Amino acid sequence: MNTQIENKLAFFPTPYLEEDFRSIIYRYHVRSLHISHERTKKEVLGYKGNTTLPRNLNEITERIPGNVTSDDIIYNHTLFPLLKPFLNEHLMDKVYRDLVSHPDLNKSINAKNYIKHIVSDEIRYCLDCIREDYNNLGEVYIHRLHQCKYIFVCYKHKKILLSNCPICETPLAEQKRFTFLGQPCCSNGHNLLDFKVSSLHEENHFIQEALLEDTSFLLSKARSLTHDYLKVKYLSWLYSKQYITLLGELFQPRAFVDDFINFFSTEVLDKLGMTEDYLRVKNRIWYQINFKKEVPNVALLLLISRFICSSFECFINKSLPNVSSIIPFGTGPWICENKYCLSYKKLSIKSCIRKVSRKDRITGTFCCLACGFTYVRSWDSQDIAEKINVSVVDHGHLWNDLIVSTYERTCSINKTATELKLTREIVKKYLPLLVGEIDSPYSSNHYSHQQVQAILETYSQYKSYRGTARKLGVNRNTVKKYVLLNLPKFENELLLDEIAVTAIDYQEERVNACRNKIVSIMSTVNNLKRSHLRKLIGYSTYRFMLKVDRDWMDEVLPPVSPHALNWDLVDKELSEHIKEKALSLYKQNITIRISKERIKKSLESFQRSRLARRPEKLPLSIAVIEQYEENKEDYQVRKKLSKESLRKGTDDIN
Ligand SMILES: [Zn+2]
Ligand SMILES: [Zn+2]
Ligand SMILES: [Zn+2]
Repeated sequence: MNTQIENKLAFFPTPYLEEDFRSIIYRYHVRSLHISHERTKKEVLGYKGNTTLPRNLNEITERIPGNVTSDDIIYNHTLFPLLKPFLNEHLMDKVYRDLVSHPDLNKSINAKNYIKHIVSDEIRYCLDCIREDYNNLGEVYIHRLHQCKYIFVCYKHKKILLSNCPICETPLAEQKRFTFLGQPCCSNGHNLLDFKVSSLHEENHFIQEALLEDTSFLLSKARSLTHDYLKVKYLSWLYSKQYITLLGELFQPRAFVDDFINFFSTEVLDKLGMTEDYLRVKNRIWYQINFKKEVPNVALLLLISRFICSSFECFINKSLPNVSSIIPFGTGPWICENKYCLSYKKLSIKSCIRKVSRKDRITGTFCCLACGFTYVRSWDSQDIAEKINVSVVDHGHLWNDLIVSTYERTCSINKTATELKLTREIVKKYLPLLVGEIDSPYSSNHYSHQQVQAILETYSQYKSYRGTARKLGVNRNTVKKYVLLNLPKFENELLLDEIAVTAIDYQEERVNACRNKIVSIMSTVNNLKRSHLRKLIGYSTYRFMLKVDRDWMDEVLPPVSPHALNWDLVDKELSEHIKEKALSLYKQNITIRISKERIKKSLESFQRSRLARRPEKLPLSIAVIEQYEENKEDYQVRKKLSKESLRKGTDDIN
């Protein structure tokens, strides 16, 4: 260790009340009679840099005679305590460590980044304090509260602070050159005791008084106030003033800034560097009250406390508005609201799903496990006596079954309604949802015999509820209902429509179901041909299987009948047909290029699909298409020629 550092200082000036740390070092410098302030700093501090904030204090206080501690200096002679309560634990540790035990003195310190937002760039004095200090102590010193950036008046005399001589405008003190006032005169010899300084303007006066009061209180409580405590204070006060939602977010930040500006006025806030633009930066207020991401703006935070409460002191000391919450809907259990349930009006529901909506409303969802009845209630934080306001989300299986079975027994909506003590409207509303269209003479959805026959016939062709419903444009449940009513008719055809496609949403399941069906059909019918199978399982299923499961189909099904098509003949006929069509296109002299696609387009769809699926079987046709395709140059020539002939035509008319 450096031996110089181990040496105790022979003397050290006793710090004055509210004296800035820089001033103490300066007075040591004057007394030491050193010419170079670097030497003084090295001697006392062990480093030469800026002294706005001390660093390495634990070592320094070791060398100072007497029992001065690091905290004495930090809390009584620097402005760090203004920041301290607003720094989170982690930051606070980091900055504090810089002050008391910075290991690398050549490195700049974290604390500096924070303190520069609080400490004025120039050193400021109060002329009345200069007079008083000079008369009482025989010397002048720097008061730390005079250096607070957002305060322009003396905490004691309420006079405007000065950083320059009123006559020659030279700075009264220069931090860089480490020249501070010791005597009440400027460097040009103007006697500062001769001047009087005016007080502040009315409007700014109020705010400065307010900030002074709050800042002094903050300084006095800095040791005990913590980040976490203050954060809760801000959030709960703002919540009590309805600026924060139940979700813990700032409610309408625009409205908050509007009210805040109205309360203090733009001029006053501008003077403190809090312009409207600054305040309206997205999330600014939110980050400040949460002490997140930004360097705390102490003045802003103090003003916010004053805006919500009458002063920062009141903000801290007044007991919080009662926000500890009543648990919405209580702790349960809750009753089942289904009058057909055995647990009706009994406390049978054990859990409640609470949700907070955007509009600050809380809803609870309650589901009875016994009957499936599910309802939602909303809860209003303003309204302690909970309004029972039930809206049904799902009537549950019990209720549904009861309606269906009663209806099936009575075959009448009216009777069902009376029996179940429901309104006719409710039964009418829910019954179709549960059983499909109602087959009753009163129902508007009654299907005629003809319509039913159409459904059955289509179904016997498609073998699919979905396909039939789509074909006829009716509800799938309707198809299902009539098919099931006529089931005996279909049973002969080996239809096990339990695996009806309707219920199967996943392709894989559908494929498996279809496979089973095909296998079961094949095991009962001998010498089954593909065409027969297609009829039995329905065209749509057959097509579906070919599309998604062709390999399996080819493996399992009988081979395609070999004499189905004479491809040579097909090819020959098709090629002639294509030739005819192409020639006719040229004859029409169409205005677009006669491409392969254009030629194919003029064919029938089954011809096109043959070309697409089995090109290897149709070489002649493909050759003809290629032969008659018009290339780009030819097309240009044809276009030009046709235009000319058109013009010629019009010339002739003229
Ligand atoms: Zn003063
Ligand atoms: Zn001067
Ligand atoms: Zn129930």
